[in-house]
Amino acid sequence: MANYTNMDLLRFLLFEVHPVQSLFQYERYAHLDAEQAWMIIESAKLLADQEMFPYLKAMDESPAQYDGNGAVITHPQIKRIIRLAADQSWIGGAAKFEHGGMQLPEMIFNAGQHIFQAANNSVQGYLGLSTGSADLITSFGSAEQIATYVPKIYQGEWQGTMALTEPQAGSSLSDIVTSAKSVNEEYYLVKGQKIFISGGQHQAADNFIHLTLARIEGAPAGVKGISLFIIPKFRPEPDGSFVYNDVYCAGDFQKMGQKGYSTTHLSFGDNDNCRGYLVGEPHQGLKYMFQMMNGARISVGQCAASVAMAAYQASLQYCKERPQGRVPSEKDPLKSPTLIINHADVQRMLLTQKAITEGSLSLAMECNRLYDLVHATQGEEKANALLLLEILTPIVKTYASEQGSRSAALAIQTLGGYGFTTDFPVQQLYRDLKIMSLYEGTTGIQSLDLLGRKATMQNGKALSLLLTQIQETIALSNQDPDLKSYGIQLNKDINTFGKTLQHLLGYLQNSNPDRYLADATVFMEMAGLIVIGWQWLKMAVKAKALQQTQNPNKLMQDFYTGKIHTMEFYFKYEMPHIEACAQTLMNEKTLTNVKDFDCF
Ligand SMILES: Cc1cc2nc3c(=O)[nH]c(=O)nc-3n(C[C@H](O)[C@H](O)[C@H](O)COP(=O)(O)OP(=O)(O)OC[C@H]3O[C@@H](n4cnc5c(N)ncnc54)[C@H](O)[C@@H]3O)c2cc1C
Repeated sequence: MANYTNMDLLRFLLFEVHPVQSLFQYERYAHLDAEQAWMIIESAKLLADQEMFPYLKAMDESPAQYDGNGAVITHPQIKRIIRLAADQSWIGGAAKFEHGGMQLPEMIFNAGQHIFQAANNSVQGYLGLSTGSADLITSFGSAEQIATYVPKIYQGEWQGTMALTEPQAGSSLSDIVTSAKSVNEEYYLVKGQKIFISGGQHQAADNFIHLTLARIEGAPAGVKGISLFIIPKFRPEPDGSFVYNDVYCAGDFQKMGQKGYSTTHLSFGDNDNCRGYLVGEPHQGLKYMFQMMNGARISVGQCAASVAMAAYQASLQYCKERPQGRVPSEKDPLKSPTLIINHADVQRMLLTQKAITEGSLSLAMECNRLYDLVHATQGEEKANALLLLEILTPIVKTYASEQGSRSAALAIQTLGGYGFTTDFPVQQLYRDLKIMSLYEGTTGIQSLDLLGRKATMQNGKALSLLLTQIQETIALSNQDPDLKSYGIQLNKDINTFGKTLQHLLGYLQNSNPDRYLADATVFMEMAGLIVIGWQWLKMAVKAKALQQTQNPNKLMQDFYTGKIHTMEFYFKYEMPHIEACAQTLMNEKTLTNVKDFDCF
């Protein structure tokens, strides 16, 4: 079987770079040890090897499709996988014991999800949505709502979804118009259209629990008037029966990628009989939904890293088997062609992919660890972990998805013409990956969030915490003569980043928010380059230390050398773009904020 991820890398990230075992000191995770944790992750690999990866291509070739009559037909394997994954706690495993979970740290749970994402990203989408919606109900729902919906979702019988987007309200959720009319204390009558709803009413689940944003009649305009509702497709009645709840699947969207994952158009209340059950307080819906969205943003970033990883693994394998041409110093045309991995340019393409995918995965693990600290700690430690997570969330989502697409394009390029054919998976992975920079907030929206909110929140405290973390890694690198110069370079880049931000803040101080945010995406690019540079330095420091202290065998020596080599590659080939971003951001000329668009 082809490799789609690297278990040595996963082990290195989990136990060495972002030591998960340090979480076991907290009460919430005290029931675990490292050996158990690894066994759980290996069980995910087995499941993915046997049930997910073999169906990657088939799901691309037989997309989820509307049946013309209110349902979407998915590949038959989807139903089997959802049930198998549920049985092995891969939907509710991170939930608390009291909610039927295994109380796993997100680090372990999401290491398993990474394997699924790399093996078959369509399949993992269904699981992730159910996890996110059940978690949302446990966080903000009533005891009755938790008891009614959560166990069935965790058991894989019911599918959870998030229903936010409407035809006129995509990026701008403040414009949603789906309405909710109060009927009695028990329920509201909901009416409206939701589009692009992933995992919507397909035949692989018995019921659908749509976590839906709607506006209660008379609510204030904008985001302050949005409430969150549980809207089941079949609503449970007090006598134990189920009644169709007037949620109709009116069609689906056929897509360029993630074809196994259903994307639906849902119509609520065509017959004025769609009951929505309010979650928490009225008008707090967007705030609650942000819990699911933030989790989903990290998950999308991780998914992008994972899909790009699968493409990298496929291209690496190909390069070790494909002979073509000779290296420039070989002048004898009668000599057998060399393997393409021996060509410098092919190595450049492979190293770029490795730098992007492993760097992104490391950042996703950093976020998962922060998420766990938020749940396991108290006081200042918790508050700081939350702030760090807040600032890293748009970065992991955006870097991994934008650079992941570039990485998967390089995977195709590495294979030459064969990369463009359906004989190899890289073209599918490239298509699958593209959605990651679009849903859960586009790159443009994430960038506005980073520069417009996160960079300045609490007087820049989140950013300053992040820079302190980076400085700690730089301090460690200073102790090693081979790594010191990279720490110095990263420090210089941080200074450039700080000066650039100060320059942009000048626009804000001059009451020009439009100009301040006009190049937010370039600012995001710069932030992403720095944060991934930090991750690579972190990995290199650890790899160097382990080489010196653990007396590793040849295989692991090479593994650690590979980490240091890739860090050096990243600093030589990727980090110089930081300076270019700074130049663009400091350039006073305004070209993208013109009022007259005749120039297009
Ligand atoms: C396959 C798929 C699955 C999806 N799954 C779900 C789901 O499960 N649930 C759900 O609720 N939604 C889902 N969505 C919807 C998705 O979240 C939206 O498509 C996305 O948020 C963008 O909204 P839009 O498509 O309306 O684009 P628009 O909002 O119209 O954006 C178009 C372009 O304009 C830019 N833009 C918009 N506003 C601004 C601004 N203020 N400043 C700068 N640039 C801006 C955007 O960055 C983008 O490049 C899914 C979409 C797809 C395609």
